[in-house]
Amino acid sequence: MTAVRQATRPKSPPSSVLERYEPVIGIEVHCQLRTASKMFCSCSTAYDGAPPNTHTCPVCLGLPGALPTINRRAVEHVLTTGLAIEATFPETTRWERKNYFYPDLPKGYQISQYAIPLAAAGRLTFETSEGAISVGITRAHLEEDTAKLIHSTTADGRRVSLIDFNRSGAPLMEIVTEPEVHSAEAARRYAEELQLMLRAIGVSDADMERGQMRVEANVSLRPRGAKEFGTRVEIKNMNSFRSVERAVGHEIERQAAALDAGEPLVQETRGWDDGRGATYRMRVKETSDDYRYFPEPDLPPLHVEAPGLEELRARLPELPSARRARYTSDLVLSAYDAGVIVSDPAMLTAFEAILAVGPQLPPKEVANLVTGDYGRAAKEIDLRTPAGLVGLSEPGELADLLRRILDGKLSRANAKEVLAEHIAKGSSVASIVDARGFRQISDVSALAATVDEVLAANPAAVADYRAGKPQAIRFLVGQVMKATRGQANAAVVQATLRERLDAADPGHA
Ligand code: ADP
Ligand code: MG
Ligand code: ZN
Repeated sequence: MTAVRQATRPKSPPSSVLERYEPVIGIEVHCQLRTASKMFCSCSTAYDGAPPNTHTCPVCLGLPGALPTINRRAVEHVLTTGLAIEATFPETTRWERKNYFYPDLPKGYQISQYAIPLAAAGRLTFETSEGAISVGITRAHLEEDTAKLIHSTTADGRRVSLIDFNRSGAPLMEIVTEPEVHSAEAARRYAEELQLMLRAIGVSDADMERGQMRVEANVSLRPRGAKEFGTRVEIKNMNSFRSVERAVGHEIERQAAALDAGEPLVQETRGWDDGRGATYRMRVKETSDDYRYFPEPDLPPLHVEAPGLEELRARLPELPSARRARYTSDLVLSAYDAGVIVSDPAMLTAFEAILAVGPQLPPKEVANLVTGDYGRAAKEIDLRTPAGLVGLSEPGELADLLRRILDGKLSRANAKEVLAEHIAKGSSVASIVDARGFRQISDVSALAATVDEVLAANPAAVADYRAGKPQAIRFLVGQVMKATRGQANAAVVQATLRERLDAADPGHA
């Protein structure tokens, strides 16, 4: 029990730390944009699994004299993201060179945006266990990815670093928040919501494990009530949402311990070691001055025009936040159900598909089926791709199952069995119900004899109920359900039992 809890829930810093210090966190996310070709050349971005250095050209290899051209789709993706976060856009933006040396950067500079990002001053709103929070997004800009370094050992034992240029020049969007996140949980939730949103608008696959979304967190502490920010540390190498929460939580504790001991903190970059559950020093942080940004002479400035922007706005799908709001208001789902369904593409597709074939079904019932028995069944067979969850069954079959329950023809207990068999064997709901002879018994007179038998056979439970243990009735309901092979209407059984028990109770007024 404890082990399971620890495995699923990262521990947060002790409350004594949080009483004294306020964590201040700003998050930087890099995500690979979904485009067919790279940022400044026509090399394909479909290099996943391809042999190294097969998706390259003079531009992305940084050969002298090669000239970049701008990928229009990548620009549109950043603008679309900006629209989704309600950002503002410059009329004109430009490209800049961020200069530094590293073997994965053959030109010696990365083409990026510094002074004028494509989108600025947006926000993202999401739920946490402490309620909804809205985090300001400073900027979203476009840049190019670096090559990939592969460290390995040769057959004769030499340690070498190899460079794969397939990723070099892939379009990358950087999204930076204001230092407005104040807990490890909120940092994780921000990243989760951002991923959901990026996928919903179709600009990125944003898979953290595959490096398509890389999250870095800047963490500092300040004494509660203080205005000034403390020294910040940037954490890298977190490759799951869970590690984001663990790493930030750990860093908060580490900094609090240092501050308590009177040790000064240094502005540095630290890596997260998931195995050890700790951060370690990577390098002392460079400042932006070190990069000697200057305008890219090989690319013209970029003009953002209103008509183009409006076209993108018109193509924006319903955002996860809007969908959650619609589900809770129009469909009267609980905030919890809406949150679960909207964040799970498999459940979302199934939910929408069932409602589409059964528009008169109560959404709450559909939600219960999708997040409950059906969702669980899908999880067990490991079919949680969007197509998989629907592919388990025709939406019409699921709608049929629900309709039978709601019309009082099939008990919920029997419906569970029908669903299990339907999923396992693929036969239709109607044929299973027929073959098993399931029909719900809701008629009191038809149930009376069984109820009396159960009461007579279980004097101990009857005595318990009468001695003031109302929960004893659950056992009796179970016995009637068993005797009727699950066909009895449980609500009718319970009412009938209660009537009998209360009426015959000598002490009952
Ligand atoms: P850099 O260019 O070095 O990455 P930025 O000024 O762009 O630095 O800030 C990067 C991130 O750090 C932003 O998300 C910002 O909100 C956050 N940040 C800035 N100062 C602090 C601080 N004192 N504590 C925590 N986060 C901070
Ligand atoms: Mg940065
Ligand atoms: Zn190329």
